Amino acid sequence: MQKERSMPRLNSAFAGLAANYLFSEIAARVRAFRSENPQKTVISLGIGDVSRPLVPAVLEALHKATDEMGSAESFRGYGPEQGYAFLRRAILDHDFRPRGVTLDEDEVFISDGAKSDVGNFQDLFSPDAVIAVTDPVYPVYVDSNAMSGRCGTYAGGKWSRIIYLPCTAENGFEPDLPERRPDVIYLCSPNNPTGTVLSKSALRRWVDYARRNGSLIMFDAAYESFITDPDQPRSIYEIEGADEVAVEFRSFSKTAGFTGLRCAYAVVPKKLKGTADDGGEMSLHDMWLRRQTTKYNGCPYVVQRAAEAVFSTAGQAQIAHVLDIYRGTAAMMRRRLGRMGLTAFGGIHSPYVWLQTPGGMKSWEFFDLLLNKAGVVCTPGAGFGASGEHYVRMTAFNTPENTLAALDRLTAVL
Ligand code: PLP
Repeated sequence: MQKERSMPRLNSAFAGLAANYLFSEIAARVRAFRSENPQKTVISLGIGDVSRPLVPAVLEALHKATDEMGSAESFRGYGPEQGYAFLRRAILDHDFRPRGVTLDEDEVFISDGAKSDVGNFQDLFSPDAVIAVTDPVYPVYVDSNAMSGRCGTYAGGKWSRIIYLPCTAENGFEPDLPERRPDVIYLCSPNNPTGTVLSKSALRRWVDYARRNGSLIMFDAAYESFITDPDQPRSIYEIEGADEVAVEFRSFSKTAGFTGLRCAYAVVPKKLKGTADDGGEMSLHDMWLRRQTTKYNGCPYVVQRAAEAVFSTAGQAQIAHVLDIYRGTAAMMRRRLGRMGLTAFGGIHSPYVWLQTPGGMKSWEFFDLLLNKAGVVCTPGAGFGASGEHYVRMTAFNTPENTLAALDRLTAVL
């Protein structure tokens, strides 16, 4: 008699993961439109990736570091898992000290991306920790926790164990404090997808809440370089006491076009503490160091030299120029959408414009209208969470010329 073949037991939390249909569904609808309308061009205002090339200072550093790798005297093998001191120092000198934030060099952990950092950090949370996310939300926060079985069951677009904090025009995209205490709160500012920024007073409210309730804030500042108003906080550590309750994630992806090169960092202050099952105190800094030294071997040397060059005088001037192009495109988008009588948010300290659909249209319905009538692609807000319904996200990453052409088309059909 043949024995039934046994199979390895797997993490069944993956089976319960809600499939992320958003971008595959958009791609399918665009494909269908193209095949039915081969003579029409499609312009995408849905691009979530940078489109401008690396700046010369970064390229020069990349070439130089690559040459170093070819000579026995300057070759580098495994680097420090936390990142090279030259980059961690440059980060503190440019990103934090000028804003009055004092951190130790070993509180900065260089990595290959903010996506991996925010996704991996949940390794440190208890399996039954309760998490809170803003709604709409960057899906990585939810899915990475769901993979660890922390979110309960998924039904009707929501996970049973997640606390959702709606962000809508009604509350000015500032989430209300939760009614019950979460262990972990994910905040993102400037926000993807809404493009809005949490003010200093809003952040202070969250830091105070976290201190009072013993919660941890995961602060995603991947888009901080788009902020132009010096009064808006670029780091959560500009709020007093935040170093006792918050981890911050930053990235060179949108700041300096590193989406393909890959370099980011997490700030994990030594003051951050949590509790073990036996009630003993645990240091998040020590845990993250242990996690990274066990599972990660560091961002490539050449990439870290390229990231260091972002902070040079030439690098700063060059990326400022690129960021201004994206900002200019976002401003044009807001202006033109406003002239069409539409209501748009974000797009000032962010490459994202969050557009309210006219006449209460559903976001997929509006997506179809723009695609079929104008050949313009956006991202339906409902794909980012229930509170994203009746909104679409538009991005400033296409060229100013293409964006202008898309806006002309929208003006003609709306
Ligand atoms: N955080 C947010 C809010 C993002 O929108 C993105 C990318 O789109 C990331 C993090 C990922 O950044 P990285 O390219 O450094 O992985």
